[in-house]
Amino acid sequence: MPQDTPFAASVLTLYPEMFPGPLGHALAGRALERGIWQLDVRNIRDAATDRHRMVDDTPAGGGPGMVLKPDVLARAIDDALLPGDARPRLLMSPRGEPLTQALVRELTAQPGLLIVCGRFEGVDERVIEGRNLREVSVGDYILSGGEVAAMCLLDAVVRLLPGVMGKAESGEHESFETGLLEHPHYTRPRTWEGREIPEVLLSGNHAEIERWRRGQAERLTRKRRPDLWRNWQRMHGGDDGD
Ligand code: SAH
Repeated sequence: MPQDTPFAASVLTLYPEMFPGPLGHALAGRALERGIWQLDVRNIRDAATDRHRMVDDTPAGGGPGMVLKPDVLARAIDDALLPGDARPRLLMSPRGEPLTQALVRELTAQPGLLIVCGRFEGVDERVIEGRNLREVSVGDYILSGGEVAAMCLLDAVVRLLPGVMGKAESGEHESFETGLLEHPHYTRPRTWEGREIPEVLLSGNHAEIERWRRGQAERLTRKRRPDLWRNWQRMHGGDDGD
């Protein structure tokens, strides 16, 4: 069931024209049209008051690049706040806590999100403190700006909002939701370029199929993601998967 008040996302960026971008298509785009969520995109530059509408300045202490000015960014945040705004305020940042499915679930339960997209070398540290920004990273690599990272985060959050996904269970078997990577998928034709669909999947034996899928998920996780595999073993008390 769609919730009565839409999930309210505000995005602060120097490139508002990048939005909704991918979020205006497919699952997220349809949910936007249906009013399950709404997107308020704001140009940080609109909060610049000086003649040249400067948003950045050179780093204190020297060094390359520019830093987003605290006064401008804080004003942009304050302008974006809703009455009695209880939404988490996020800053996309490679220094942040990693975006995981668990964090996505946590954010989905909020009334909405205010997301700041950084640019240049980043933002003045005092805004992070003064406006209580929670730093979130989409991975251990450096993007040129926070916009694509914000889109990743919003895409993952929006698909879990009530009423967005067709089948109620379709989110539950995905990689990470179970703590394991997902098993391989197949569809017709039965033989393609000499490769067969594994026999068990054509057997109609649902218990066997479940067992096979579980085995594949464990095998893939053990091989590709030892970090996830160790967690899984700890949680399930298994010691069988050397
Ligand atoms: N000098 C910074 C990187 C700045 S990249 C550092 O070394 O940590 C410019 C902006 O892109 C950042 O302010 C952030 O908003 C965004 N960004 C870059 N990589 C990101 C990542 N892995 N996750 C989330 N946001 C990222």
